[in-house]
Amino acid sequence: MKITDLVSFKNEELTDFSLKENAEAMRLALKKRRKTLGKHQDICIDGKEEVTEKCITSVNPANIKEVIGTVGSASAEQAHRAIELSHKKFSEWKYSSLEERVQLLLKTASLMRERKNDISALMVLEVGKSWAEADADSAEAIDFLEYYARQALRLDQPEELVPLSGEENVLSYIPLGVGVVIPPWNFPFAILAGMTSAALVCGNTVVLKPSSDAPMIAAEFVNLITEAGIPEGVLNFCPGGGSEIGDVLVDHPQTRFISFTGSKEVGLRIVERAARPHKDQIWIKRVVAEMGGKDSIVVDEDVDIESVVEGTLAAAYGFSGQKCSACSRVIVHEKIYDKFLQRLVEVAKEKISVGDVEGNNCYMGAVSSAQAYKSILNYIEIGKKEGRLMVGGGAVGIKGWFIEATIFADVSPEAIISLEEIFGPVLAVIKCADFSEALTIANNTNYGLTGAVYSNNAEHVQRAKKEFHVGNLYINRKCTGALVGAHPFGGFNMSGTDSKAGGYDYLHQFSQAKLISKKI
Ligand code: NAP
Repeated sequence: MKITDLVSFKNEELTDFSLKENAEAMRLALKKRRKTLGKHQDICIDGKEEVTEKCITSVNPANIKEVIGTVGSASAEQAHRAIELSHKKFSEWKYSSLEERVQLLLKTASLMRERKNDISALMVLEVGKSWAEADADSAEAIDFLEYYARQALRLDQPEELVPLSGEENVLSYIPLGVGVVIPPWNFPFAILAGMTSAALVCGNTVVLKPSSDAPMIAAEFVNLITEAGIPEGVLNFCPGGGSEIGDVLVDHPQTRFISFTGSKEVGLRIVERAARPHKDQIWIKRVVAEMGGKDSIVVDEDVDIESVVEGTLAAAYGFSGQKCSACSRVIVHEKIYDKFLQRLVEVAKEKISVGDVEGNNCYMGAVSSAQAYKSILNYIEIGKKEGRLMVGGGAVGIKGWFIEATIFADVSPEAIISLEEIFGPVLAVIKCADFSEALTIANNTNYGLTGAVYSNNAEHVQRAKKEFHVGNLYINRKCTGALVGAHPFGGFNMSGTDSKAGGYDYLHQFSQAKLISKKI
């Protein structure tokens, strides 16, 4: 496709699996995927696959005896070399044409569109996403590529400067250098694709260290962009344990920037380490860090309870609450508290089922890992002391890491389960005396990622817009489901650097502005 023929960006449509033919196509994709289970993918540095001493084994969280595949696990030496060779490659790639880079993203997006169900099927098996959640993840990845391709073209347009007589002044954006991209496992395709493609389209080279909990879907992305024609060495696939090679990648003097999405703890560690210059380092490293959340829904006294219950449950239990934007606290006006709680509990019991999502007959699948399973169950035990258990409260099944949708009522705003990110299917219900108190509670954590307010009181909505301190605030709708281009995404406070992924100025973070002033 000629770049001049590019139509304006539109979000990718989601698949309606209630249609028989769509459901059948997904079943086939899963069947096909099952035939490739157990496959191995090596690390790839400078276009060459390399054997590693260790491997990372990815298992199906719904059936932990089932191996999805293995990837090589880079050693410290290999990680070090990946940065060095990426740095060398940068001297070429930085002069590649914008057209080439934009076409690369568009071609990759088109391959993804062709194989959308195959990609989604892998996410169902590797991270336990329901069909709909996996489909949304694949669609978001396509959106990121299509959107950043267009934003790169926009960034190439001359910036308007104040005219000066006798001078010709031009400001343009140039790439930074080698970027280390470290994504999380929870949007294993979309976030990885978004972070990587943004860095690449700006002319940077990338060392990609995927999450050890979702390495096969990361390999899938690398294979697709390779098929789309990325030159060797521009994207280096460097899986490895975060605690083993993370510091090597971050500390390397030739690392120019780190693009991270994950937990607050790891993000802060990266910010701190990246600030320290190393021998022969000639720049200040840039860190884009998008981190955790403790997201609230505020429910005013005048709402339609049914629709708020629906929005709250979707935000709390979509992908088992394993979204940074997931609602983990619902703060409810005392006048409707009892009625709201009763309906919340009834609908949760009726609709939020847990089990193997492969057959598309459960709302939530297993949680991601043994570590997550242990940590969530530990929070549930804490919750039993801090609140009134209304629904769930434990593990189910033995084949995988399944945890019931859990609701605690009458939770204090200062309780542990009220303040800490649980990242699982656990919801705290908090009573408030009035709207002012609701906003105070909503702002009482050190995070600031997403939040939602349901209210029909115009004055309250105005107050929420000003006072509810989150990067993504939603009014009269749920706090999950940000769409690329429509809802640029990123949080305040300890939720990160507010980079606004999927937003129009996201690419600035992967480039630097150069001003050239010529006397005429
Ligand atoms: P995580 O444990 O922080 O891991 C994220 C990535 O960091 C993984 O690739 C991990 O690799 C790597 N890592 C671990 N230790 C490292 C180190 N010392 N140096 C460098 N990298 C290191 O987070 P997660 O469990 O994957 O993801 C869940 C978290 O991400 C939640 O807190 C969630 O809120 C947050 N999140 C935020 C956003 C957002 O946009 N704000 C979006 C999605 C998720 P290994 O897997 O090998 O350890």
